[in-house]
Amino acid sequence: MDATTAAIGTALLLIGSNTFGFLYSYVVLNSNLFAKYRIQLKPYKKGLFWSRMPLFLFNLTTLILLSAFGAYSMFEFFETSWPEWWVIPVQVLVAFVLDDIWFYAYHRYLHQNKFLLKNIHSIHHRATTPFPLEYLYAHPLEWMIGALGPVLGFGVLMLVMPVNIYAFWIFGLLRNLHEIHIHSDLELPVLSKIPFISKTRHHDNHHAKLTGNYSSTFSWMDKLFKTDF
Ligand SMILES: [Zn+2]
Ligand SMILES: [Zn+2]
Repeated sequence: MDATTAAIGTALLLIGSNTFGFLYSYVVLNSNLFAKYRIQLKPYKKGLFWSRMPLFLFNLTTLILLSAFGAYSMFEFFETSWPEWWVIPVQVLVAFVLDDIWFYAYHRYLHQNKFLLKNIHSIHHRATTPFPLEYLYAHPLEWMIGALGPVLGFGVLMLVMPVNIYAFWIFGLLRNLHEIHIHSDLELPVLSKIPFISKTRHHDNHHAKLTGNYSSTFSWMDKLFKTDF
């Protein structure tokens, strides 16, 4: 594998997961297929899917370009061969934990600082009854701050060992799919039973009530700082 392949692989992965998010959102909004799993009873506002598309696409393009550029420019620090069995799970877990600590910290601050809440974070909170792709609906500045989470996670890992490219991809894919999932407003039978990770209801309540439940992937930061409900 060379740097170009790593960059193209990263971009294709994100295009794939977001194509799924796009189709999933379209089905959720335009059919009754998932209606019985909905958490909130409020109907979706008409026309949101297409009116939000410009910001969805802007933030998605930023995400794909930054991630692909990251894989390309940092390629010499990646390991591309198949490692020992424990390396990928440990690296994915460390990246998730550090990313979630970062997410909790800046997200909570975006709520505590009323200027930032009004001018930056309120855009993401226009979604009171979210649908899957609305994880992309955020002020571009907030979006960039969020992107620092994986940089922190993999940056710390790179200080102690080479990061495996598959760990980077698995993290990116799972992080993306989990964000799509927790913005779905759906409590799906199997997914809502996966232990340790936060459930849709956790983040859905945050959107419905505009307070508490500040973490994303896990919910232990909220439990630790007593901001969960
Ligand atoms: Zn928020
Ligand atoms: Zn959200």
